[in-house]
Amino acid sequence: MAKSNLIPPHGSDTLKILLLEGKEREAELKRAESLPKVVMTTRETGDLIMLGIGGFTPLEGFMGQADWKGVCETMTMANGIFWPIPVTLSHDKKVDPGTEICLISGETDEVMGTMKVTECYKIDKEFECKHVYTTTEADHPGVKMVMAQKEFNLAGPVKVLSESYFPTEFKGVYQRPAESRKVFAEKGWKTIAALQLRNPMHRSHEYLAKIATEVSDGLFIHQLVGKLKPGDIPADVRVDCINTLVEFYFDKNRVVTGGYPLDMRYAGPREGLLHAVFRQNFGCTHMIIGRDHAGVGDYYGPFDAQEIFYKLPEGALLCKMLPIDWTFWCYKCGGMASMKTCPHGKEDRLFLSGTALRKALSENGEVPAEFSRPEVLAILRKYYASIEEGDKVEVKMHGHATGDAKTK
Ligand SMILES: [Zn+2]
Repeated sequence: MAKSNLIPPHGSDTLKILLLEGKEREAELKRAESLPKVVMTTRETGDLIMLGIGGFTPLEGFMGQADWKGVCETMTMANGIFWPIPVTLSHDKKVDPGTEICLISGETDEVMGTMKVTECYKIDKEFECKHVYTTTEADHPGVKMVMAQKEFNLAGPVKVLSESYFPTEFKGVYQRPAESRKVFAEKGWKTIAALQLRNPMHRSHEYLAKIATEVSDGLFIHQLVGKLKPGDIPADVRVDCINTLVEFYFDKNRVVTGGYPLDMRYAGPREGLLHAVFRQNFGCTHMIIGRDHAGVGDYYGPFDAQEIFYKLPEGALLCKMLPIDWTFWCYKCGGMASMKTCPHGKEDRLFLSGTALRKALSENGEVPAEFSRPEVLAILRKYYASIEEGDKVEVKMHGHATGDAKTK
């Protein structure tokens, strides 16, 4: 790669790429055939792919007990490097250290990689949930995932052999950190703000994105193409919405879009930090953190994810937060505004949340034009019309989504 002014990867001078290609990959695939198989969840598979493409630089595999504990308690790995959420692999049987295993995707049955097991340990799941998710309530989708993990965690360095269906199913969207870095370098950008997306892009996201673009060389709209919770809009529909919005409402010279293969953990503040860590690996200098970033239900305060960034020790994380206040349409201001710019009251404002929109669309209700662009709404209406009645999931409204939650 040409010398560039881009930010270095997290905790390393170069991207740690664990994905094998060509002859090396062929040979390892052959070797994997004879190894004992360990089946991974979609979350573990997504994590493995991120390890493969350098998205989780400087990690070299699934975490051992010391890293797991340090990450849970103090967001620091045994080597002193900052990391906010455990990246672990669970298994139902004890495996002796030194054993080589073959990693299989439970979703597609594909051989995804190999790992040399260096450690096999039991974890206190409640401890992990208490620290990482700040709750042990079984209804929390992230807690549910941790509680569903098997008895042992296996740790060790990995060799990654596939990116699964992401490069084909999300062609033109899914990309590796080396690819986004190359694009940013070619454009000569130094400051790049990342916008995290897991919902279709509405006016509020568009506004966040445009504020960030005003103060940066470029914008990276980076969307999750891994798994969400039931009732959320599928990735291909979200991709379509974002591409359409960029097409009609953004200067394409200032925006790069991309997708990454992780499942949502809904860890709120901790996940906001993880988002910044891997965005740095993709070449971004700033991470946009708005209201209730990576939250779910009412588990986190609307600005908890911003506060956690302010508390980080100096130098822990090079990618900085770009904090943006609660945004909405204000009828008196006659445009998008935020709590910082609009002096008017609740009665003058239309609060725009993805949850509220999903509820309106799933019930075929009216959606105000100030909520979402017509081109985006057209795609969403088509999607909702295509869902079978029995497959619909009732969308529950929470305080945040109705605009009733306290502001900071
Ligand atoms: Zn106003």
